[in-house]
Amino acid sequence: MSRFFSKKYSGLTPYVPGEQPKDMRYIKLNTNESPFPPSEAVVKAAEEAIRHGELYSDPECLAVRRALADRYGADIDEVIVSNGSDEVLNFAFMAFCDEEHPAAFPDITYGFYSVFAEANRIPYREIPLREDFTLDPRDYAGTRETLFIANPNAPTGIALPLPVLRSIVDSNPDRVVVVDEAYVDFGGESAVPLIHECPNLVVTGTFSKSRSLAGARLGFAFGQRELIRDLDTLRNSTNPYNVNRMTLAAGTASLAEDERNRENCAVIAENRERAAGQLKELGFRMTDSRANFLFASHPRIGGEELYRSLKSRGILVRHWKSERIRDHVRITVGTAEQMDALASAVRDILEELT
Ligand code: PMP
Repeated sequence: MSRFFSKKYSGLTPYVPGEQPKDMRYIKLNTNESPFPPSEAVVKAAEEAIRHGELYSDPECLAVRRALADRYGADIDEVIVSNGSDEVLNFAFMAFCDEEHPAAFPDITYGFYSVFAEANRIPYREIPLREDFTLDPRDYAGTRETLFIANPNAPTGIALPLPVLRSIVDSNPDRVVVVDEAYVDFGGESAVPLIHECPNLVVTGTFSKSRSLAGARLGFAFGQRELIRDLDTLRNSTNPYNVNRMTLAAGTASLAEDERNRENCAVIAENRERAAGQLKELGFRMTDSRANFLFASHPRIGGEELYRSLKSRGILVRHWKSERIRDHVRITVGTAEQMDALASAVRDILEELT
């Protein structure tokens, strides 16, 4: 830390993204990216956009917002886009929380929520999930805190049914509930249609996972227009050209090929179920993941040891040291071949233990 660093941030522990080592070619199952590249049409759209790279991008992001609004059955002023959904989640912390209005979220969830809260000096409460990592809706009823709920949750993959989510939103009419749907396309049910009836609901989404555009950085949020205007105030107060021209074009082109994206998600869901079956046969326990990853533990090997052994065999998965989940690893679902390679590496690792 330099002597110039603001005291405001001196205690901040930044978010640590999944590793991206370059020492060898890994089978990368650690950051929930899609195993499928973007389509030719999406690549062409981005290429075409850089031809006009001397001009700023559209600060209103109209084309992609219109396409998103059409796709989700909302109005254009009910959607905002951002530089990855991380950015709009940060805006939501800034917009809807402060000293008097703390944030709350599960104790096991996306690790960035606590970092956003701390960076914005917002008090927060972590609400323990049940022993089996399911969420007890009673813990969220009428809390008077701004709630952040990933659905499906990460890293557990467990999804809340829409009526349960709705009851949480209805029980907190004076606070915003932010539902983070980064993984919804792999088997969850989107809450976006609820925004028309719920004036305190914000739903965020991303092109990073189901739309194969993690590197383009494109996220979005839906909500009633006043809520979106609040988020937009923060966008315009920090970075009005927050989404670049190539990404806007790629996102718009991606929304024109929904069928292809749906097929990719179906393949990933199929690979997930198959890989879950293989891992169960090897003695793993898993949550019921509706996302593009599995959250697994094995009675004979700790999470860290499994992570290390897989890495030495060229397969990256994600492991956290925090107490409740240190026995687990999170495994992104890739292609069938990648998942077979994983199962075979795990089989070898377990055999070597005996
Ligand atoms: N929410 C959750 C639950 C995530 O796991 C991620 C990915 N790390 C994000 C949001 C943010 O993704 P992005 O910024 O790529 O849209």
